[in-house]
Amino acid sequence: MLEISSPLRLRLSHDALISNWRWLAAQGDGALCGAAIKANGYGLGAREVMLRLAGAGCRHFFVATWAEAAALLPLPAGCELSVLHGLGPDDIVPAATIPARPVLASLEQIQRWTLMGAGRPCDIMVDTGMNRLGLRVEQLAQGAADGLNIVNCLSHLSSADEDLDISAAQLSAFQAVKQQLKAQRYSLANSAGLCLGADYQFDLMRPGIALYGGIVHPHMVGNIRQVAVPEARVLQLRTVPAGEAVGYGCTWTAPHETRVAVVNLGYADGYLRCHAGNGSGMLNGHGVNSIGRVSMDLLAFDVSDAGHVAEGDWISLSYDLPDQAEKTGLSQYELLTTLGQRFLRSWE
Ligand SMILES: *Cc1c(COP(=O)(O)O)cnc(C)c1O
Repeated sequence: MLEISSPLRLRLSHDALISNWRWLAAQGDGALCGAAIKANGYGLGAREVMLRLAGAGCRHFFVATWAEAAALLPLPAGCELSVLHGLGPDDIVPAATIPARPVLASLEQIQRWTLMGAGRPCDIMVDTGMNRLGLRVEQLAQGAADGLNIVNCLSHLSSADEDLDISAAQLSAFQAVKQQLKAQRYSLANSAGLCLGADYQFDLMRPGIALYGGIVHPHMVGNIRQVAVPEARVLQLRTVPAGEAVGYGCTWTAPHETRVAVVNLGYADGYLRCHAGNGSGMLNGHGVNSIGRVSMDLLAFDVSDAGHVAEGDWISLSYDLPDQAEKTGLSQYELLTTLGQRFLRSWE
C-alpha cells in the first residue's frame, strides 16, 4: 500500500473526551449519562468516540440515521444505540437487521413499527414544545403509544442554553408525560439541559456538544476541556514586499515587507470564510494570524514574528469553541460538524 502522509490533521485528546464525559456524568444526581454521537461524533469520528466512551463506562449512544448506526457496528458489549430519526418508509430493513432501536416520533412510524412485529423494544420521542420531531402530548392521551415496549421515552429541550422559562414549561410537560406513559427510562436533557438541575436529568442524560469541548452553560467553564485541535502544514514560504496583496480579491495588502506562510487548509475543510480576519494559531511556539481570504484549500499566515519557519512546519489553529463561535458567528456545533474529511483524525 502506498503511504501518503496527510498535510492536515485533527488532533484529538482522549483524556479531554473522557474527562468531559465523566464531568457530565457526575452532574447527574443518579441519572445515567449517555452520548449523542450523530454527525460522525460531531465531526470527530463516531466509532472512535463510541469505543473510547464505552471504555469509560458509557452505555447509551444516540445517532440520527440508520446509516450512522450501521457505521458503528459491531457495538461494544452491553451498549445500546438509539436512532433519533426513527423509522421512515425506507428504514424497515435496516431496523430489522441492525441492533439499534428506533426513536419512534410519529403515528406513521409507530404503525410501521407495529407491523414489523409487536412487542419489540423501541424508544419514543414526545414533543413538549419544540415542534421538531415527536408525538404530540394529545396523541399520547389518545393512546398512540399503547402497546409499545418502550425503553427510553425522550423529549428534547428547544432552549436549554438560552431560556429558563421555556425549559421549565417543557419540564412540566414532560413530567406529565411520565405520569401517563410507561417506559423503562425517561430522558430529557442534552448538554445544557443537564446543567439546569436534578429535575431535568430524569433517568438518562444525552449530552453531545459538551463531550467535544462545547461550553453551553456557565458551570462548564473550567470543567469542560477542548478536545479537537486542527493543524495544517506549511506548503510554501514567501516574502511579500510592502504594498503587494495576498489572496483572492486582494483584501490584504502588506503594510511592510512580510514573511508569509501558505498552509494546507481552506473552506473545503470546514475552515469557512468567516474565519478570515480572525484566524490565528501557534507556530513553533509563536502566535500567528491569518491574512487575506480563506481559499478552498489554502490559507496564508503572517509569520514575520514566528522565528525560523520551514516548509512542512505545522500551524496549530486556535479552535477554542466558545471563542471561535464569538469571533466567526458560527455556532460551536457548526465549528465541529463542518470539519472535513481531509483531516487525518489523530487521537492521542
Ligand atoms: C443532538 C441531540 C442531543 C445532544 O445535544 P447537545 O446540545 O449537543 O448536547 C440530545 N438529544 C437529541 C434528541 C439530539 O438531537
